[in-house]
Amino acid sequence: MSDWNELSDEAFRKEVRRFFETNYPQELRFLSRRLRWSECKPWYLTLSKQGWIAPAWPKEYGGMALSPAKQIIMVEETERCGIGRMPDQGITQVGPTIMRYGTQAQKQKYLQPIIDGEHVWCQGYSEPNSGSDLASLQTTAVREGDSWVINGSKIWTSMSMDASHMYILVRTDRNAPKKQEGISFMLLDMKTPGITIRPIRNIAGHEEFSQVFFDNVRTPAGALVGELNKGWTIAKALLGFERLGIGSPRRPRYAFTRLEKVARSRGLMDDPAFADRFVQLRLDLADLASLYGRYVEQVRRGETLGPDVSILKIWSMELNQRVSELLLEAAEEKSMYEGALDFDGEEVDVLAPFYMSRPGTIYGGSNEIQRNIVSKDVLRLPAK
Ligand SMILES: Cc1cc2nc3c(=O)[nH]c(=O)nc-3n(C[C@H](O)[C@H](O)[C@H](O)COP(=O)(O)OP(=O)(O)OC[C@H]3O[C@@H](n4cnc5c(N)ncnc54)[C@H](O)[C@@H]3O)c2cc1C
Repeated sequence: MSDWNELSDEAFRKEVRRFFETNYPQELRFLSRRLRWSECKPWYLTLSKQGWIAPAWPKEYGGMALSPAKQIIMVEETERCGIGRMPDQGITQVGPTIMRYGTQAQKQKYLQPIIDGEHVWCQGYSEPNSGSDLASLQTTAVREGDSWVINGSKIWTSMSMDASHMYILVRTDRNAPKKQEGISFMLLDMKTPGITIRPIRNIAGHEEFSQVFFDNVRTPAGALVGELNKGWTIAKALLGFERLGIGSPRRPRYAFTRLEKVARSRGLMDDPAFADRFVQLRLDLADLASLYGRYVEQVRRGETLGPDVSILKIWSMELNQRVSELLLEAAEEKSMYEGALDFDGEEVDVLAPFYMSRPGTIYGGSNEIQRNIVSKDVLRLPAK
């Protein structure tokens, strides 16, 4: 089908559900961790072959150019089928950034391999002493002939052990008057000599992020995206795309479907106090989906996301935490056990959504920082 937007929403949902149910491997459903590339590459390629790997991308770059309503249907059906999160930073973050700021040569070199699953991307932003205050980053890139030579370290780099490439923020001018002004945005092949990856274990015991060290790593001059020392603007635009991805109803919906199963199995729907809280969360989820749709539409129109997208991230991640907390309450004494538990024949891991919801208010810029952005750049409140 050349334009999936031509189908009615109902027909599209049916087709997506059929495709997911038929093709997504049973053993990878409803996992309580992120998928490793070795596990999910076949599914990535299946989606890619179907033309569905990049719902939001324009058709000229191999995307579906899907309407916001239909993108939300894909999110909902992804959750319904229990499809795990793949390494998606190429599709959701660096791809749209290259489309907007990259040269023609960069678009040709990098976009198609993302669609084809040949390049897997990770994000090199945070450093051991630069998280919320990202502009203070110290990893340097110094020009030597036709190369940039990178030294320093990045931390909390999600799925870096599976990544073939990293988009990285580096300091290219130590003497710039403002710290934001000496930063550049570069693209880096992770096989370049001098890169060392040290995995870090998270609260649930999975190694999903790491610290990455750069020791005289040489990357070609063409690695620079946009203008030298003007990477901060690009970095912020990319964070807008990231916040859109994080703000998708996907994660809270995942927790909510688990909550619904547990609540029904425990007969909690007959308890008016519980039902009140349940319905409130359901309505909050509907509000999130509609807000998300608004931002998706903005991106589709080719507009840059403004600082107000922070509200989407705040709402989505805090809702996710509220849903996962009620899930623990609903599971009562079972909430102390890890792994899949039986609720009237339905297997539900009640702790996993809770664990997964905790870092959500930290990554992509902590919710405190998002509130600072909203108060300063949207509401224009005085700083002190
Ligand atoms: C699961 C996970 C995955 C991640 N993946 C990546 C990745 O792939 N790539 C990457 O580059 N980074 C990644 N990060 C890092 C993430 O972006 C940072 O953790 C985040 O920006 C916060 O920085 P920090 O950890 O240094 O905390 P700090 O900046 O030290 O903040 C500590 C606390 O102080 C608060 N705080 C700090 N400054 C202020 C302020 N001005 N006003 C109010 N409160 C403030 C913060 O909100 C936070 O609660 C990941 C983090 C997590 C948890």
